[in-house]
Amino acid sequence: MKIIQHFINGIEQAHAQPSMNIYNPATGQICAKLALADQADIDLCINTAQAAFPAWRDTSPLRRSRILFKFKALLEDHAQELATLITNEHGKVHSDALGEITRGIEVVEFACGIPSLLKGDYSEQVGTGIDSFSHRQPLGVVAGITPFNFPVMVPMWMFPVAIACGNTFILKPSEKDPSAALFIAKLLKQAGLPDGVFNVLQGDKLAVDALINHPDVKALSFVGSTPIAEYIYVQSAKKGKRVQALGGAKNHMVIMPDCDIDQTISALMGAAYGSAGERCMAISIAVVVDPNPAFADSVIEHLVKQLSSLKIGDGHNLENEMGPLVTKEHLEKVINYVNIGVAEGAKLIVDGRKIDIAEQGYFMGGCLFDAVTESMQIYKEEIFGPVLGIVRVKTLQEAIDLINRHEFGNGTAIFTQSGSAARDFAHKIEVGMVGVNVPIPVPMAFHSFGGWKRSLFGDQHMHGDEGVRFYTRLKAVTTRWPTNKALLDNQFIMPTL
Ligand code: NAD
Repeated sequence: MKIIQHFINGIEQAHAQPSMNIYNPATGQICAKLALADQADIDLCINTAQAAFPAWRDTSPLRRSRILFKFKALLEDHAQELATLITNEHGKVHSDALGEITRGIEVVEFACGIPSLLKGDYSEQVGTGIDSFSHRQPLGVVAGITPFNFPVMVPMWMFPVAIACGNTFILKPSEKDPSAALFIAKLLKQAGLPDGVFNVLQGDKLAVDALINHPDVKALSFVGSTPIAEYIYVQSAKKGKRVQALGGAKNHMVIMPDCDIDQTISALMGAAYGSAGERCMAISIAVVVDPNPAFADSVIEHLVKQLSSLKIGDGHNLENEMGPLVTKEHLEKVINYVNIGVAEGAKLIVDGRKIDIAEQGYFMGGCLFDAVTESMQIYKEEIFGPVLGIVRVKTLQEAIDLINRHEFGNGTAIFTQSGSAARDFAHKIEVGMVGVNVPIPVPMAFHSFGGWKRSLFGDQHMHGDEGVRFYTRLKAVTTRWPTNKALLDNQFIMPTL
């Protein structure tokens, strides 16, 4: 049986015995045992990262960048193996796993530019014989706590930028799919990263709370569900730590009557059912705008047709488009939401609760609800499964108001051929990431990723310039090199340059 441990100080090790089963969601079989960190593992990990910090901080940004260039090349060479690991434990189809690796590599490419990104500001002669400069310095040990749904991409929103800036990093991956983090750690070591700069701590709440409470951990980046994001934000802030905590979502796609219907339906299918809906940017509500019900009826007709040919099965089979859900418990939760929707009076047009499939894993089919209303639980809450709801409204303004009232504000999209409708929507909508004829508007690595409202607790988004700001602090230095004694007179008055 494969044993999954921590990666501390350049080696795989664990003090605690492996205690948790890891399952292959496509078969329902145990595929590994995971060692969850105990206090001894946690202390060793934080102490190791702290000990590695001074030398790494003093390594020039150019040398750090060269290691990241090598890491990028290794990721490209090993992308197939890494994607296989993701599919084994997460279940998503192989092409989707490769896609998340590509999006992660883009952040490494961004972080390779760290010598430019860390350039400071300099002002000459701010006073007589006085110059001033400001620059950004790393924080120390920083930690990332990540969700199950992107075991490679989400950690890579964080650590490439963090270590490029000169911090040392502790990754606490999801305990549902922990292998990818170890694979990444080994590639970083192979790329020449000094031991202790990047560590993986496998664990649960005990490990997370220890990271929050330890004085040597200076900042926490979190991605996961909203209740845990809020908890991490509040607890970390109480300890005086810097924190960015990205939470859950309920993303709406607005479909205008003038949209290109084939392009829109194809985009909606991928955004709603891709990765079995287990994406924080998945579209789970389609808001169809038209006073005429015939348009919404035709959107539904197209969706039903496409859903009937959706290929569901083991993600390793390259023909499949949708894999299983991540765990048995999550499958049961999603099916329960569908039951709730039916009880609430939404119209279940396509019922994927039971699926005829040879595999024994945690599979369900795509579900489609019509007549979803704002008061329903299936509208308000994040389901995180292949369940799409249709809400019918009469005007774009009604759609905007509806979305703006929702507690989440991660992503949204509008599909239209009207420039003025798209502009109006992008301007008025209270959501952090907006797509115009783009269903999943995940910003590129050199921009920053983050939602609004209860989809993000904290001030800085991830990667891009905001990522660099999050992982560094600003220092301003004012210098004078006196050449005559007169300049040093009057030391007791308030300095006015
Ligand atoms: P989760 O909140 O259950 O777990 C996330 C991390 O928190 C894991 O590492 C887990 O070990 C840890 N954790 C869980 N319970 C904890 C507790 N009580 N105390 C401390 N730590 C705890 O999330 P998940 O199920 O792994 O991932 C799915 C969620 O992540 C969805 O809500 C999804 O929307 C969200 N997500 C958001 C984004 C975004 O960018 N906003 C991106 C990806 C996923």
